[in-house]
Amino acid sequence: MTGLVAAGCGGDGAPVVSAPTESTSASGTAEAAPGVPAAPPSLPAPAPTGGVAVGPGGVPVAVVGGGDGQWLVRTPCDEEVVLDAVSYEPSAEVVVDPGHGGAEAGAVGPGGTREADVNLAIAERVVARLRSAGRTAVLTRTGDYQVSIAFRAELAVRAGATVFVSVHNNTVPDGPAPGPGTEAYYQASSPDSRRLAGLLHEETSAALSGREVAWVADTDAGAKPRLNAAGTDYYGLLRGAAGVTSVLLEIAFLSNPAEEALLIDPAVQEELADAVGEGIERYLTTADPGSGFVDPYPRDLGVGGDGTAGPGCIDPPL
Ligand SMILES: [Zn+2]
Repeated sequence: MTGLVAAGCGGDGAPVVSAPTESTSASGTAEAAPGVPAAPPSLPAPAPTGGVAVGPGGVPVAVVGGGDGQWLVRTPCDEEVVLDAVSYEPSAEVVVDPGHGGAEAGAVGPGGTREADVNLAIAERVVARLRSAGRTAVLTRTGDYQVSIAFRAELAVRAGATVFVSVHNNTVPDGPAPGPGTEAYYQASSPDSRRLAGLLHEETSAALSGREVAWVADTDAGAKPRLNAAGTDYYGLLRGAAGVTSVLLEIAFLSNPAEEALLIDPAVQEELADAVGEGIERYLTTADPGSGFVDPYPRDLGVGGDGTAGPGCIDPPL
């Protein structure tokens, strides 16, 4: 959760991420600039307007330009730099986004569990599961560092992803509930996003149901849109990734002691990752409609802020 969101933790809104464009900077030159390391020769030439590169630091970054051994990339803090890439994916079927990170803990459980850590643990398992099934899948964040909302969306766009799922856990419930309060937010104008949300809701809530837990929830838990005062998607992540089928998933309430106990259990994290992965697989391979669709009750949410990195954002070593 961020301080600016009344309920839920998905973060502030961000305006649209610019569409991929040809860079006018170093990538257009035929020779490397002095002091700029060339990419290893074993790598393919960078696609000019897309893909995901990883440097020596292991941090995925969005390729925004390149050629002739240079990789012009956008960093988690929205800087544009030349990277000495060590690996490159020209595209990824699935991009999985562990919400928050670094100075942005997200929700914090009564036992001190940081949402950012739980989200990463689950998202890593989702990507591992997808890869073992032969999918190309990448994370927007691979460690405990800050990542802007705009970057997360841009990585999904630059990867040409078929599916983009942002993994969160929640806080500020309406109250006790008979079952898990999983929420899956979809892009209001996208039937594909709606179907993906229904499948992710179905799988993740089923994975949690059946446990004897003192659940909490919002009264409108389910698969739903969340609109801002302008009538578009409240979450900047979903606006920024327009054109990519995207869902922001709030799996359970970390603020609830009973659910915190579940979320820190590696076996439960594995179950939840299986559920998210299964929801994605069903989206990709079936016409199943999903379930759990609800109409959200009105909230006074404003329009949402700018999702680009603030001045305090510090990139990890790339
Ligand atoms: Zn969150």
